[in-house]
Amino acid sequence: MKFEKKPFVTLDQVREMAKSYSTPFHLYDEKGIRENAKRVNEAFSWNPGFREYFAVKATPNPFLIKLLHECGCGTDCSSMTELMLSEACGVTGEEIMFSSNDTPAEEFRKAAELGAIINLDDITHIDLVEKTLGSLPETMSCRFNPGGFYKLSNGIMDNPGDSKYGMTEEQIFDAYRILMKKGVRHFGIHAFLVSNTVTNEYYPTLAETLFKLAVRLRNATGAHIAFINLSGGVGIPYKPGEKPNDIYKIGEGVHEVYDRILKANGMGDVRIFTEMGRFMMAPYGCLVTKVIHEKHIYKEYIGVDACAANLMRPAMYGAYHHITVLGKEDAPCTETYDVAGSLCENNDKFAIDRQLPKIEIGDYLVIHDTGAHGFSMGYNYNGRLRSSELLLKEDGSVQLIRRAETAADYFATFDCFPEYSSLAEKQ
Ligand SMILES: *Cc1c(COP(=O)(O)O)cnc(C)c1O
Repeated sequence: MKFEKKPFVTLDQVREMAKSYSTPFHLYDEKGIRENAKRVNEAFSWNPGFREYFAVKATPNPFLIKLLHECGCGTDCSSMTELMLSEACGVTGEEIMFSSNDTPAEEFRKAAELGAIINLDDITHIDLVEKTLGSLPETMSCRFNPGGFYKLSNGIMDNPGDSKYGMTEEQIFDAYRILMKKGVRHFGIHAFLVSNTVTNEYYPTLAETLFKLAVRLRNATGAHIAFINLSGGVGIPYKPGEKPNDIYKIGEGVHEVYDRILKANGMGDVRIFTEMGRFMMAPYGCLVTKVIHEKHIYKEYIGVDACAANLMRPAMYGAYHHITVLGKEDAPCTETYDVAGSLCENNDKFAIDRQLPKIEIGDYLVIHDTGAHGFSMGYNYNGRLRSSELLLKEDGSVQLIRRAETAADYFATFDCFPEYSSLAEKQ
């Protein structure tokens, strides 16, 4: 089977959108988002308490958070404004997982006010939360870091021993005992060990690690373990030819480990939670940008109206994002281009030495898989402004779900140039 990458939008649709909204813009696919969320819920339906807590940092847009909420997802927040955003979307109480680290006291206060489940990143936070709230909530979670290297059989691995998150195994046992003494009655375990895993093996492997830990913790402390949070890290195929994850296989893999370890130890009531960001949204968003220049020096450059301020992953991680020239989907890739933005930074390139069809000024490019960790990592370097976000609805219509930043927005935080605040209307 060939795994091709096709845009979810056509040239005609983009031409129509461009009449009302100037490029660049991030575009999201309602149909794709809903269908994927349905698959995720089906894949884990064997676990009656299952819930996906969408990692808000991936795509912090209220329209999309509400859309996912309609599909049964809660939110995973890690900052004050993410908590506020969740609240503004009507997602509160146990539908919020507060998985934060290096956490300011006031954010614990806000999380508790909203009734969120607090996931402690560090053992010292027990005191901080108790001091801040006066007492501890009935349900609390602890983040686990097994240290060392974490390996999957296909070679994907990461180095938790080098990461700032979570508690050591010894600390998590201590934390449970202390929390129990202080009145906590229901417990969760959380870990996020490897990012963007394109293998069906990650969740089941992580589940085995955490389920065994859960049995040890229950046996040693008598604590009631109410849920296990597999967090994020389920990846997507950014490159053509990569085999996508099969969420049904992943769900079944976790199910098998669940029966073998938890059920067999009389812990068949444990709820499974996830906090996926990338898997929920990345393929269902793209960055649409227009070609405004071509340049022929030592290499061939295509200049577009988007830049790394709109999508940082290629510049930051050297990440591959597939590019389609709209209207030339089937044209042969005869040219080799660097596709560049305008930042005064030579790493502002969406593609390097990429084989593409012959490109003309005015062509529209779709930069794929920007639906997670795309817009949200944007910044204002070089005074570049954040783009708009559009939603392609199931009925084919288009909704503006965030307007583009204006120069007035850029000046707003100076407070000393009131004359610029009227710029928005002039533009
Ligand atoms: C970033 C993050 C996620 C989401 O990660 P993805 O790779 O997008 O799935 C989930 N949980 C926590 C705590 C995170 O920091």
